[in-house]
Amino acid sequence: MKPLIGVSSCLLGNLVRYDGRLKYEPRLKEVFGDKVDWLPICPEVELGLSTPREKIILLHDVENPSLQTLETQQDLTQQMQNWIDVKIRSLKKEPLKGFIFKAKSPSCGIQNVEFFSSREAAPQRIGTGLFAKAFIEAFPHLPYLQESDLDDPALVKSFVERVLHG
Ligand code: SF4
Repeated sequence: MKPLIGVSSCLLGNLVRYDGRLKYEPRLKEVFGDKVDWLPICPEVELGLSTPREKIILLHDVENPSLQTLETQQDLTQQMQNWIDVKIRSLKKEPLKGFIFKAKSPSCGIQNVEFFSSREAAPQRIGTGLFAKAFIEAFPHLPYLQESDLDDPALVKSFVERVLHG
């Protein structure tokens, strides 16, 4: 059986992004070839949001942010938290070996996600996506990367070794 890696679904070329655009990440294939199986997850689509959809943002408290739609100001925080709780429980039953997250997303980004202290304030790049944060807390021993890390040979080597041989 091949190692199973979770991945933000858009990186596999699935059309799940808020803007409906392709975000296929070819380096996944270059790095892993056919050596792994992928478990694609899109928190926003699995939450029931459509594609394309309104952009969502992180607001108010960087440690415990509110997740809201940009224009219509719909608060999705509790809905997302409920989905995350169920998803993490189901992922605990999977033989996951690691995860590759889409950078900068309010759901999937690991770090430097746009965060707004208020709707009037300019964004700061200091947030963590809600799903990424919950995943990392729930699986503290699993290796993870964001796709921008695929530029860093040392990070990639360490991740691959842990996934394939860890
Ligand atoms: S970054 Fe995450 S939430 Fe956004 S489209 Fe990709 S998988 Fe879905």
